[in-house]
Amino acid sequence: MRHDPDKILVGEIRDQETAQIAINSALTGHLVFTTVHANNVFDVLGRFLNMGVEPYNFVSAMNCILAQRLVRNICEHCKQPVAVSEDELRESALNPDEWKDTIFYEGAGCFECGGTGYHGRSAIHELLDMSEKIREMILDRRPTSEIKRYARGEGMSTLRESAIERVRAGITTLREINKVTFIEG
Ligand SMILES: [Zn+2]
Repeated sequence: MRHDPDKILVGEIRDQETAQIAINSALTGHLVFTTVHANNVFDVLGRFLNMGVEPYNFVSAMNCILAQRLVRNICEHCKQPVAVSEDELRESALNPDEWKDTIFYEGAGCFECGGTGYHGRSAIHELLDMSEKIREMILDRRPTSEIKRYARGEGMSTLRESAIERVRAGITTLREINKVTFIEG
């Protein structure tokens, strides 16, 4: 702080002391970026509040929370269409009526991808924008399920939806996203 920075990157927050420093820095007009390990954006709320951070300071300091996870991309050299059964669609929580005309792809495995069918990775993400109402709900200690429902109503899309879009675009496979994301209830 003695260097008088405008923007601060705090590598990772694991304890109360670091959380407090990050929040105090944000409250005093610095733009702070940081990371925490969590399953999704809503877990981050609990992580901070359970570290003993004052909820009012937390909601005042926070602009948004972004969760991301990596999925493997299909190898372009051996990419080919694959048949996906209605049962597989249902197990992936996809409506067969809506998906029956979609072409799914997988990599057959080749020299370029070392036989894995995948080459490179891309990030899927979900973003929680801290709207006025969501700040209020956090201050009121509303259950996560309720905050989630409200955020979804405001148009937030989940990691799972982001992953499904990658499948629809032929970038990754259904198998891969079922391994990397949970099917949302
Ligand atoms: Zn390949």
